[in-house]
Amino acid sequence: MLNPVEHMAAPAAARVGDTLADVDTPSLILDLDAFEDNLRMMQALAERHGVALRPHAKAHKCPDIALRQIALGAQGICCQKVTEALPFVAAGVRDIHISNEVVGAPKLALLARLAGSARISVCVDHPSAAQALSAALAQTGATAGVLVEIDVGQKRCGVQRPDEAVALARTLAGLPNLEFLGLQAYHGGLQHKRSIGQRRRGAEKAARQVRRYLRAFQQAGMPCPRVSGGGTGSALFDAAGQVYTEIQAGSYPFMDADYARLDWGDALLLRHSLFLLGTVMSTPTPERAIVDVGLKSTSAESGLPRAVAGKGLHCVAINDEHLILKADHARDRPSLGAKLRLIPGHCDPTFNLHDSLVAMRGDRVEAIWSISARGLSR
Ligand code: PLP
Ligand code: MN
Repeated sequence: MLNPVEHMAAPAAARVGDTLADVDTPSLILDLDAFEDNLRMMQALAERHGVALRPHAKAHKCPDIALRQIALGAQGICCQKVTEALPFVAAGVRDIHISNEVVGAPKLALLARLAGSARISVCVDHPSAAQALSAALAQTGATAGVLVEIDVGQKRCGVQRPDEAVALARTLAGLPNLEFLGLQAYHGGLQHKRSIGQRRRGAEKAARQVRRYLRAFQQAGMPCPRVSGGGTGSALFDAAGQVYTEIQAGSYPFMDADYARLDWGDALLLRHSLFLLGTVMSTPTPERAIVDVGLKSTSAESGLPRAVAGKGLHCVAINDEHLILKADHARDRPSLGAKLRLIPGHCDPTFNLHDSLVAMRGDRVEAIWSISARGLSR
């Protein structure tokens, strides 16, 4: 006898052992073979250049993924928000850099509690923020590492001049429960420049900025052991550039459609591993197919998802719960009920829309991983 629906939770979209055809839609799926290749490729790049890899977990928000990155040699992870770190600490991650400024009493109180259970570092770009952080940590007795964020061209957060950075580091050194570790130098605007030459030149320019800051620390007689930054788009150059000690790339395990538009030359050939699985729910004309993957299942601010099957099939519009596909010819249009794999435009906000990730080995579901930090944006 079936339970009455009054007490029923939504059935799981997939179970371990299912084939792709059994998986309900919309679902977020991971091709484990491609994913594992990507993890190894970035870890090898970092090791080849003697830099640490500290993958950004904001890309996936999934502790099962972070544990695999660490098992392969990652130093720890980055989180962008304090609450985001909670499920990772709960899963056993013990080294987390909050690669962001943290302002406000509730956030600082939580950070101070996290610092009692894991090695936590955080960015600071203002002396008042440093004082507030130190005061919050004094409440729990824990210590946090601090990276002074410097603006190397993104025009987002960060101090603007080397003398400011040195003065801030001096302030930090005089405050209890804080340990000055070095600099964060992240240039987000560089990551998606299409041409590899443009990204190389941009990364070299950012590295020159970092060197100016490092010289100021040297002149002040202050050690500055860590320089953290870099993303998937600039990792090749950041790892090789001799100024970063740690790479923060986040998207590299997945290769979303936005990153796939870049020119990669013959280096860092990351594979698509992340897909949305959708069902054709309507075929109103011979050339049009409607799939059940809307804005509640995929982000679209960096472009629509891309259909994997067939050259003649294009995603042309998206609504809350519908994706509209146009076929060049009737023969390219999938039939009603067909399941399609789509490459999401941008991995980070897409993960944030899903509770779980269906991890596939070939055609079989090997595991279902919880995207535990989804929605944790405070
Ligand atoms: N570090 C910081 C501070 C970021 O904001 C981001 C992404 O926005 C990353 C690293 C990772 O970048 P990507 O996902 O492009 O590898
Ligand atoms: Mn991103």
